[in-house]
Amino acid sequence: MAIRDILIHPDPRLKTVADPVEAIDDAVRRLSEDMLETMYHAPGIGLAAPQLGVMKRLLVMDCEKDETAPPQPMVLLNPRVTWASEEINVYEEGCLSIPEQYGEVSRPAEVDVAWVGLDGSAQSARFDGLWATCVQHEIDHLDGRLFIDYLKPLRRQMITRKMQKLKREKARA
Ligand SMILES: [Zn+2]
Repeated sequence: MAIRDILIHPDPRLKTVADPVEAIDDAVRRLSEDMLETMYHAPGIGLAAPQLGVMKRLLVMDCEKDETAPPQPMVLLNPRVTWASEEINVYEEGCLSIPEQYGEVSRPAEVDVAWVGLDGSAQSARFDGLWATCVQHEIDHLDGRLFIDYLKPLRRQMITRKMQKLKREKARA
């Protein structure tokens, strides 16, 4: 396992629709291990493959907030929302590709998601609360969409300028 670099917005790869995972091979298994390790190390509650520059429809998440509870790592290949509640939840979201910036995003409060597990099995589950927000945020990454795309243009531009400055500073360091 290895911790990989997380792309910082703006980056064209974060705006690109990712390709389906066609075969579950060693590269995909290693990628999901690396993604979990990178996510826990950050620390974060979700990570999508395009954030590591890998344009595959693969995401990992663990939204267990109770520190005393065992970790609940999940790996979702080719996930898709099959049902969304009319009820909306507003959550202040952040993103490992947009460090230290937050914004309120409205999304369906509950979603059904179907995906393929690492063992190749078809899986599905209903998510609510933070899990619902997280899984929708991560699936958005697979479609080249960021949480700031839901914010007002001025706020989005302000955040983007801050990130450009952060990247220039990192490049000089
Ligand atoms: Zn994100």
